[in-house]
Amino acid sequence: MNDTTNNPQQPAANQDSDSLIRTIYTITSAHEQGFEYQMQALLKTGLQRFGLDIGILSKIENDTYTVEHCVVPEEMSISVGDTFEYAKTYCHITCEKNTTMAFEQVGMHDEYAQHPAYLALGLESYIGIPIRINGALYGTLNFSSAKPFPRNFEAADLDAMLLMASWIEAELVRREQEAQLKTLNEKLENEVLLDSLTQIPNRRGMQAHLRRELSRLMRTGGRATLALVDIDHFKALNDTHGHLAGDKALVATAKTISNSIRGYDYIARYGGEEFLLLLPDTSLKLSGIVCNRILQNIAAQDFPHGKLTASVGSCQIECSEMESTDMDATIKQAIGWADEALYAAKNAGRNCHLIYGQHEAAA
Ligand code: GH3
Ligand code: MG
Ligand code: MG
Repeated sequence: MNDTTNNPQQPAANQDSDSLIRTIYTITSAHEQGFEYQMQALLKTGLQRFGLDIGILSKIENDTYTVEHCVVPEEMSISVGDTFEYAKTYCHITCEKNTTMAFEQVGMHDEYAQHPAYLALGLESYIGIPIRINGALYGTLNFSSAKPFPRNFEAADLDAMLLMASWIEAELVRREQEAQLKTLNEKLENEVLLDSLTQIPNRRGMQAHLRRELSRLMRTGGRATLALVDIDHFKALNDTHGHLAGDKALVATAKTISNSIRGYDYIARYGGEEFLLLLPDTSLKLSGIVCNRILQNIAAQDFPHGKLTASVGSCQIECSEMESTDMDATIKQAIGWADEALYAAKNAGRNCHLIYGQHEAAA
């Protein structure tokens, strides 16, 4: 073992473990800087500590060793994303032995002087440690150089590797959990806005969509049809054939209506057996065509218990003429108009579509 204490050119051994711990702590606490920054800083700290010039965090999958993060000399052509045959790396030895491996001069090593990694790259010095996540091998943290190591690797060097590897492992687990949580939150957020039976938006999702869409139409001076579709005599279906038959009819009818409208039209489950539609950029004439097509398609459905019909009430919203910027009040008023027309359609004998403004004469 060489004495390095008086030679500033030589890498520190156990000289200042406290200082290393402080540096690692500073780097690893800097979450706001991001993982990429932290890994660069950590690799540079390791290189400085060992006096080596190649620092890598690798990922190992099957037979492939991939460079995930690295700090290398400018003249060296190793970069992130580069892959190597795993069996031809020193890390293969490290992972096989499942411990920190350190070589001061591979060319002089009894066993590894003929190792394919040495023959291919000629790296003399190396220190590497496996990185594991939840017990499974992830990759390695390793430092190396084409130059032989000027002293022996010591216990303090192995401790330094363990310290850095422990943080990387904890951080990788944290990032994985964070990603899982994000996906779960997105799924939950989505579910909160969907009706669990029909998988179309529920009333909560509907309100947010109507606000957004009417604001857009107000800005562009467009118009829209808002319609309420209510299944006729649904209570009788439930009472005669059971709640499950009613549920199946609701799911099928939601699908039938969805298939009867354009991609940019909107459907939500407004209440029990009542659906709300918003058809943007739709004239009075077109709204009549669409609503009657929906009624025909609902009536064409075949159920074990027979046929169903529905009634529709709608109103036109001229967004350029909208006075109020209170979207919730506007939405409430439009739904009130459509509901009035729906009530008239029920009174007119059901299985028909009436438009607010024309409904009184028709009813
Ligand atoms: P109308 O022709 O006037 O619309 O009469 P209706 O029987 O369809 O209307 P009513 O409002 O009297 O009854 C609606 C029924 O819808 C009552 C309620 O039990 C049923 N319902 C509401 N939600 C669900 C559901 O999720 N599943 C089932 N199966 N039935 C539901
Ligand atoms: Mg009904
Ligand atoms: Mg109803």
